[in-house]
Amino acid sequence: MSCFVCPVCKSFLTEQERTYNCENNHCFDKSKYNYVNLLMSQQSSQKRHGDDKLQIQSRRNFLNNGYYSSLCDELCKAINSIKKSSCILFDIGCGEGYYTAAVKKSCNIESVYGIDISKNALQYAARADRSIKYAVASAYQLPFSEKSADILLNIFAPCAYEEFSRVLKDDGFLVKVVPLSEHLWELKKAIYNEPYKNKPEIRNDDLFTLINVQELKYSITIDSKEDIFNLFTMTPYYYKTSEQDAEKLLKLEKLVTTVHFAIETYKKVGN
Ligand SMILES: [Zn+2]
Repeated sequence: MSCFVCPVCKSFLTEQERTYNCENNHCFDKSKYNYVNLLMSQQSSQKRHGDDKLQIQSRRNFLNNGYYSSLCDELCKAINSIKKSSCILFDIGCGEGYYTAAVKKSCNIESVYGIDISKNALQYAARADRSIKYAVASAYQLPFSEKSADILLNIFAPCAYEEFSRVLKDDGFLVKVVPLSEHLWELKKAIYNEPYKNKPEIRNDDLFTLINVQELKYSITIDSKEDIFNLFTMTPYYYKTSEQDAEKLLKLEKLVTTVHFAIETYKKVGN
């Protein structure tokens, strides 16, 4: 049995060679890339289909060139400090699986699942590591049963706290990575006349309690036009920036920019 549940009847899905099946004979084919689509057509027509192809390729190329490897190392340390011996982890909004695969390997986690709304991203993810189970699904309607995960990962991705609380075990943790105020400041200065700083939001309520925050701030030097373009394209600014402003960036040969993140660890408030 897998941790996935059937999006139709909510009973557990069993993994076969080419499909996932539930006891009520609902059947979901695995794609040739080895992920499964558990997004119902009703959901998919309402939601946008995640990051587009260009953005996914840019992010993949940028991350594979190691600019965020320090973040990835610190994330693995944070997870190592909370994981149990037999651990189930869901990466919600896993994209092309850069962090998912790194965490699985370096934290030696038994059972890792990744979900994302973008099929294009999962094609990369599922090819890169076949030991991780990937599904197309929405963060707001996760294809998992109540109290099934020990750790949820949520990296620069939409956060659906009620749904996250539902699928986490009572002693489970949510680990989030969010951008802080000076993240990509010099990139923004290169584009905008009046750049603004990010305003991070910290969550402390009846669902989750913040138990640890680790702030990371360092400079990265990007000395290829291609990687400057990749970085720009993988950010939300790509969609919000006028052509004129974007052209300023394309003229740069080199960019030294601050990266500024927080790794936040939350404990579920059990009930
Ligand atoms: Zn079913």
